[in-house]
Amino acid sequence: MKFSNYEIINAILLHGLNSGTHKPALFQSFEKFYKNSKSSIDWYYDLSDSYLRIYEKRFQKDRKPQQGFIHRQTVQERVFDLLDAEKISRDEALHIIGKDGFNDVLKRFHSFGTDNRTFKNYFFEVVDFGKKLILKDTFFKISSLEFDELILQAKIKQTTLEGNYLIKHNTDEDFRFTNDKRKIYLQSLKHIEKRVDLTKQREFLVPYQSNKCFYCNQFLSLSRETPAVDHVLPYKWVLHNQEWNLVAGHKYCNDQKNEFLVGPHYIDALFYRNENIVGNRYLWKDKIIKHLGFSKLKRKKQLIFEYNKVKNQMTYNNKVLWWNGDKNYDLRNDPEYKSLLTILNN
Ligand SMILES: [Zn+2]
Repeated sequence: MKFSNYEIINAILLHGLNSGTHKPALFQSFEKFYKNSKSSIDWYYDLSDSYLRIYEKRFQKDRKPQQGFIHRQTVQERVFDLLDAEKISRDEALHIIGKDGFNDVLKRFHSFGTDNRTFKNYFFEVVDFGKKLILKDTFFKISSLEFDELILQAKIKQTTLEGNYLIKHNTDEDFRFTNDKRKIYLQSLKHIEKRVDLTKQREFLVPYQSNKCFYCNQFLSLSRETPAVDHVLPYKWVLHNQEWNLVAGHKYCNDQKNEFLVGPHYIDALFYRNENIVGNRYLWKDKIIKHLGFSKLKRKKQLIFEYNKVKNQMTYNNKVLWWNGDKNYDLRNDPEYKSLLTILNN
């Protein structure tokens, strides 16, 4: 049986996985190229730009969530927020979208349901990820009447998905409140830094933690394993790599803690660790003083201030995203884990 191109796109749009609005948004971003008969699409200045504009237009009119998980955001939402708070340039925004924003959407666009073979590369093909996408003849053969119809369907689909996600995010009011809160928070950040490779910091940190993992307080070997360097207050909330917030730990412990918030007892430990550095090493001492303050008291107050700021951001519907769901969770008290490590190290 032969299907028209219209029918195929219709099926593709209606039978997505629906975990986000990526698919209908991507199709809408192709409209411009259809109208200009442009088949060779530059990655950043055509594709990323057009895609981001679809979201910008929506968000400026009526902001709604673009995926179903309450404590998550799509890359597009995050980029929009950073642009809106004037923390990144448009070029940077296009770069982030081009690098991370398409996730699986380009790969999955042609699938409907679980079938990802039948129409693989049917309307477009990624020639070189990060460089070029080619829209094919099949795409341009859709009649303009049918095309307008499909664009409208894509918009309706996106609106329907947003409505569903909003219910999952509880209420309109909660979503708006969280967004306003996030905006004020982002605006309050003096400057943001890109996430960087922290491997060099590892060798410095481990001795200053007396060769102990920050999270479980057990022996951490530089010679026998490759410790992880972690942002205690998660990077996605602080958007910096300042030294006072970096700790070394076992990869396992780091993975457990992930992007959650630690209880205040860990902030006490972080304070003492930082004071270890201030009391000893010249290079990092200055950096910690610069960011947290000249006196011990100031540094303590500033650390608690930073902690509460992030905690506020990680609070949804009065629930904090605690590590292991528990404010008092402390890997240092976990007997099971301790014994495992004792075995490993003896
Ligand atoms: Zn550990």
